[in-house]
Amino acid sequence: MYLVSTRNMLNKAQHENYAVPAFNIHNLETIQVVMETAAEMASPVILAGTPSTFAYAGSDYLISICQQAAEQYRIPVALHLDHHENIPDICNKVISGVRSAMIDASHFPFEENIRLVKEVVNFCHYWDCTVEAELGRLGGQEDDLIVDAKDALFTDPDSAVQFIKATGIDSLAVAIGTAHGMYKHEPHLDFDRLHAIRQKTEIPLVLHGASGIPDTDVRHCIDLGICKVNVATELKIAFSNAIKQYFLDNPDASDPRHYLVPGKAAMKAVVADKIRVCKSDGKL
Ligand SMILES: [Zn+2]
Repeated sequence: MYLVSTRNMLNKAQHENYAVPAFNIHNLETIQVVMETAAEMASPVILAGTPSTFAYAGSDYLISICQQAAEQYRIPVALHLDHHENIPDICNKVISGVRSAMIDASHFPFEENIRLVKEVVNFCHYWDCTVEAELGRLGGQEDDLIVDAKDALFTDPDSAVQFIKATGIDSLAVAIGTAHGMYKHEPHLDFDRLHAIRQKTEIPLVLHGASGIPDTDVRHCIDLGICKVNVATELKIAFSNAIKQYFLDNPDASDPRHYLVPGKAAMKAVVADKIRVCKSDGKL
């Protein structure tokens, strides 16, 4: 079965005031957990992979597993290129079956960001692949990319209008005070800025760095127009902590079919919780 773009799922979310969760997956087990939980809760879902995840698992393996998952559960599934920067790499993955891509050129000056994003949009739209881009800059670490908090820049609402018009993107990742990874200090989100961006723009807005943000704040962001919420770090922590505990309890364990099971169960609880926070359950 084919993988869908995020066009219909995000437009529906925008009109019905919920968000579609995008879960970062890494391997067969994490894909199984996300898909099984989304299907049980009748939630639309986005499977997201950073460049290093695709490199780790192998692009063709990853795409094939996701296509098989869509076939098995018979629900629309988007496999999303999270924080991709290399244009030929994006094009290759789209040709291989991916229909949702983020081009992250947010570290370039405004005009250069526009030029690169526009190039990706031109290619992707021809393949019916939706494109997300970021304006502003999140702090923290995503993949091999580390951004100092002092270099994090918030999204300017008027620049967002100009950026969307100039690039033709389908969704916009906004920087409103979230960061990648877990938070060392309590994050303060700029809700007024989010509200201003929503008032001036029409396309779905995306929240990155949601791990560790209190549920009430994520909900508030959704009420203010966020339609896609990215979750990565919290899944990894739940998965690995449960496996660590299993090895503490069973130091001689050696069978992945045993020691991965508690990891999957712990991750499933987080996925279900995030689906509820996003209010996407029952929205299929
Ligand atoms: Zn991100």
